Amino acid sequence: MSYLRPISVAEPRLYVVSRPSFDEKAFLSFLETEAEIWNRTPASTEPEEIVEAAGRICYMSFGERQSPKDTAAYIRNLIRLEHESVLEHAVWSFVLAGVSRAFTHQLVRHRIGFAFSQLSQQYRDHTDARVVEPRLVGLSPPVEAIWRRSLEQSLAAYSEIMSIIDSDEMNQLLPEERREQLRAIRSAARSVLPEATEAVIFFTANARAIRYFLDTRGEILGDEEMRRVSALLLTAVRTEAPSLFQDFELVDAPDGLPLVRHVGLNDS
Ligand SMILES: Cc1cc2nc3c(=O)[nH]c(=O)nc-3n(C[C@H](O)[C@H](O)[C@H](O)COP(=O)(O)OP(=O)(O)OC[C@H]3O[C@@H](n4cnc5c(N)ncnc54)[C@H](O)[C@@H]3O)c2cc1C
Repeated sequence: MSYLRPISVAEPRLYVVSRPSFDEKAFLSFLETEAEIWNRTPASTEPEEIVEAAGRICYMSFGERQSPKDTAAYIRNLIRLEHESVLEHAVWSFVLAGVSRAFTHQLVRHRIGFAFSQLSQQYRDHTDARVVEPRLVGLSPPVEAIWRRSLEQSLAAYSEIMSIIDSDEMNQLLPEERREQLRAIRSAARSVLPEATEAVIFFTANARAIRYFLDTRGEILGDEEMRRVSALLLTAVRTEAPSLFQDFELVDAPDGLPLVRHVGLNDS
């Protein structure tokens, strides 16, 4: 029986699945008890308002003491002063798919302000796993042929190992024994999976942590998968809260891939 099959290639996809919600009624009730008035910026988004409200609480800068006047300028000042703990109040959750296991290994190194839940290779059968193709591979037909052959062989080896050790004996086992036996089988089989295997990861991060991630990872020319994900991430969070990411820009690099540049505030 042949386990070789054509490989299926995945592209990165990012979904914003949870976002900050500002209870303006509760916050305004609090201000009323303090006899304070907040001149809000009509176009501000909820995460921006959360950050502004938190920052203004520090100095009770409402009413006559309210300066700068609008949300973007206020947040700009927080960033300039490196008063960035205030940015931690804005938190999003994302589902990221179509990235390689090699990529998520880099992503989960970010310990502060992130939480991760990744598709398990012990619980999930990867017989039909998709893979992520590096751009450079696709640019060279001979390299791509080697790459595809190697991945087909690895994925075939995975299926073969699964089928040999996932024998009829499994059916004799009690449910909890079976669960652990399956875990052991998949652990053995996954050891031949390539780093290009598609991973799916749910992650949550606050605005400060996202800014740090984009700053350290977004502009590394040779890390193309990281650049693509950084671009998706910046595009998503800039739609959600432009002021919190006003000192980043998305650039089309000569290699045809985007990069994320932390340009700073350029204020004199
Ligand atoms: C270009 C590049 C190359 C890399 N190469 C490698 C590599 O070859 N091998 C490898 O293993 N990793 C490598 N990494 C990963 C890198 O070492 C970090 O693990 C990763 O970038 C996460 O950064 P971080 O620890 O600053 O982030 P976080 O864990 O999110 O921490 C954020 C910040 O919090 C503070 N902090 C966090 N934990 C502590 C602590 N325990 N003590 C004091 N301060 C703390 C620091 O200021 C830190 O910058 C590389 C990263 C980059 C960008």
